Amino acid sequence: MSDRQTKTDVILIGAGIMSATLGTLLKELIPDWNITVFEKLASPGEESSNEWNNAGTGHSALCELNYTVEKPDGSIDISKAVKINEQFQVSRQFWSYLVNSNLIRNPQDFIRPLPHLSLVQGEKNVSFLKKRFEALSNNPLFKGMEYSEDPRKLMEWIPLIMNGRVSNEPIAATKIDSGTDVNFGALTRMLFDHLKRKDVDIHFKHNVDDIKRNRDGLWELKVRNLDSGTVERHTAKFVFIGGGGGSLPLLQKSGIPEGKHIGGFPVSGLFMVCKNPDVIEQHHAKVYGKAKVGAPPMSVPHLDTRYIDNKKSLLFGPFAGFSPKFLKTGSMFDLLGSVKPDNVLTMLAAGAKNVPLTKYLIQQVMLSKEQRMEELREFIPNAKSEDWDIVVAGQRVQVIKDTPTGGKGTLQFGTEVICAADGSIAALLGASPGASTAVSVMLDLMKRCFPQHINEWEPKIKEMIPSYGISLLEHPELIREIDFSTAQTLGLHSELALV
Ligand SMILES: Cc1cc2nc3c(=O)[nH]c(=O)nc-3n(C[C@H](O)[C@H](O)[C@H](O)COP(=O)(O)OP(=O)(O)OC[C@H]3O[C@@H](n4cnc5c(N)ncnc54)[C@H](O)[C@@H]3O)c2cc1C
Repeated sequence: MSDRQTKTDVILIGAGIMSATLGTLLKELIPDWNITVFEKLASPGEESSNEWNNAGTGHSALCELNYTVEKPDGSIDISKAVKINEQFQVSRQFWSYLVNSNLIRNPQDFIRPLPHLSLVQGEKNVSFLKKRFEALSNNPLFKGMEYSEDPRKLMEWIPLIMNGRVSNEPIAATKIDSGTDVNFGALTRMLFDHLKRKDVDIHFKHNVDDIKRNRDGLWELKVRNLDSGTVERHTAKFVFIGGGGGSLPLLQKSGIPEGKHIGGFPVSGLFMVCKNPDVIEQHHAKVYGKAKVGAPPMSVPHLDTRYIDNKKSLLFGPFAGFSPKFLKTGSMFDLLGSVKPDNVLTMLAAGAKNVPLTKYLIQQVMLSKEQRMEELREFIPNAKSEDWDIVVAGQRVQVIKDTPTGGKGTLQFGTEVICAADGSIAALLGASPGASTAVSVMLDLMKRCFPQHINEWEPKIKEMIPSYGISLLEHPELIREIDFSTAQTLGLHSELALV
């Protein structure tokens, strides 16, 4: 045990994209606040934010079909897609601000333009995609989307997927060139380099074991130095629990009432990675399909061109599965350890409700490589086993809670910020749409945790993010401006170039 004790303004737990984003925003707004970071691994962006652990999609609902659901009357609800797209525009603006201010040098090291396509087969799915296209294509946020049922057109767009396809079923796709591939691992590392230059006190190989509130109102963290084994005490006025899958256990330790009756459902992932350069070169897009009946939204594999280590790659997945770990580097006891007296009924209800899902995920874990190749062949009919390797992706811990509509133990698929009533501690739970929406999620957290400062910060936030607090849909001229300027700064494709 060490008697080392420190006091600081802000502690960020975890060195993933969320802490990186919050730390960067706070340093721009109040440079003299002291910030300390504790990360249990040896470097930033090693868990879900790492480029090999997530799919690198700049989620803006251009191709992900689960964000546009078909209503009972047959019409398409696009409200979620619009929200996610607007959130991604916030990220684009903040990243552009960082590039324009020279806080980040080469945007192509973390973001690249890449067409986003949705591809479906079968009459019912084709009809859905057509309606989705009609609902989105007149919306300025989705301008430039094309639709085709013509196999020759599809051959132009996605030759690797169309070559060798023999099915007589109807097929259709939408394509939009303003999609992106984002290397969130590289971005996290860039932001942490920047935070280091700004004198943020960053401690790797330091595990936060416990959190409690002192009588003076400060939060005290028990932190274990994983190299020396010594235990340190660190206090702060504000704590952000950005532990990814590790956030739920820490939130539970804080004991705040807002963290009660919440559970976590871990979903594991696998990618198939192509090692044949000829095959990699034949594809240039992210292509999302439709989830099979009974499959959860995050289990829709997609065929993605990726830019990792500045090299073009081709990944298929993630295949969802079940593992009781909350982090890829976590323990087999994570799930069991998260069951507490206050959430046991919620967890039991979720367990009973999600038997088919759990069964599905366990079956998925058991799939052999050849069975996974069969799924891949639905995308690339001529895929050869020897061209593909399997790599383990990150863990996603979905939130389980009691909701008025879903009842006890309802599984949530979104991201959720849990804040103490006095705003002194906050945790981020959930995984989707995830890293793409980090900036707007962290801005929302700041609004809730620092209501006394937000008005004074607003002019600077608006300088960084001109659309802050404004609905883009109600200001189409702003969409044009933002699309054009951020595309120029980040080297992306603009559908709305100013003329
Ligand atoms: C398979 C998969 C595919 C995905 N695809 C996409 C995608 O295409 N697009 C997208 O936008 N998002 C995607 N996501 C989601 C995205 O990766 C996450 O939302 C995002 O990376 C979460 O960032 P984070 O900072 O909260 O967590 P993480 O990056 O996981 O960071 C949390 C950090 O906290 C540390 N930590 C945990 N507990 C402790 C502790 N007690 N003490 C100290 N440190 C601790 C961990 O070691 C870790 O480094 C995907 C996720 C997965 C798993």
